[in-house]
Amino acid sequence: MRDLTEGVARFQEDVFPARAELFARLATHHAPHTLFIGCSDARVVPELITGTEPGDLFVVRTAGNLVPAHTPGADGVAASIEYAVAALGVKDIVVCGHSACGAMTALAEGHDLSGAPAVAAWLRHADASRARATAGRDVPALVRQNVLAQLANLATHPSVARALAAGETALHGWVFDIPTGHVENLTAAANAAPHAA
Ligand SMILES: [Zn+2]
Repeated sequence: MRDLTEGVARFQEDVFPARAELFARLATHHAPHTLFIGCSDARVVPELITGTEPGDLFVVRTAGNLVPAHTPGADGVAASIEYAVAALGVKDIVVCGHSACGAMTALAEGHDLSGAPAVAAWLRHADASRARATAGRDVPALVRQNVLAQLANLATHPSVARALAAGETALHGWVFDIPTGHVENLTAAANAAPHAA
């Protein structure tokens, strides 16, 4: 906690004054251009990876960067997605997986999750990811297939489906490699072909 307190003091002394103008504008304007859905993993920092400023990204982080498919019952992830797309009108939506993801490793390697029932239940949202990945304990392959499966889940949300149909938003699948800092774009080819299914 001491680290956090010192961090806040540093922010107020050094960081905030240099960006006072930006924060003054943001005080009354919230218009992020991108909905960024990443893993809760502490090593994956959306603003750092993308070189963005406060106000640029609307961020949702979940274990395993999972996006539950739309269901009639609302949940926090669905509400955040709907707000970003329907109310804020984000132009792009990124689902970002990453190397050495604990959630994907647990699934690929079949870890015993009986002591973590909430995690086990949550990871069922990766059932389709596992089905897409070919057999074996290939974590990187599951990470990639999981990003693609979550993009498919994302498209089941009515607000996203509507924005996609109207050409108002675009979906992107990324994988961040922690040791090299490289960001792989899994959907670059698909996005380069407009009107592709
Ligand atoms: Zn992760």
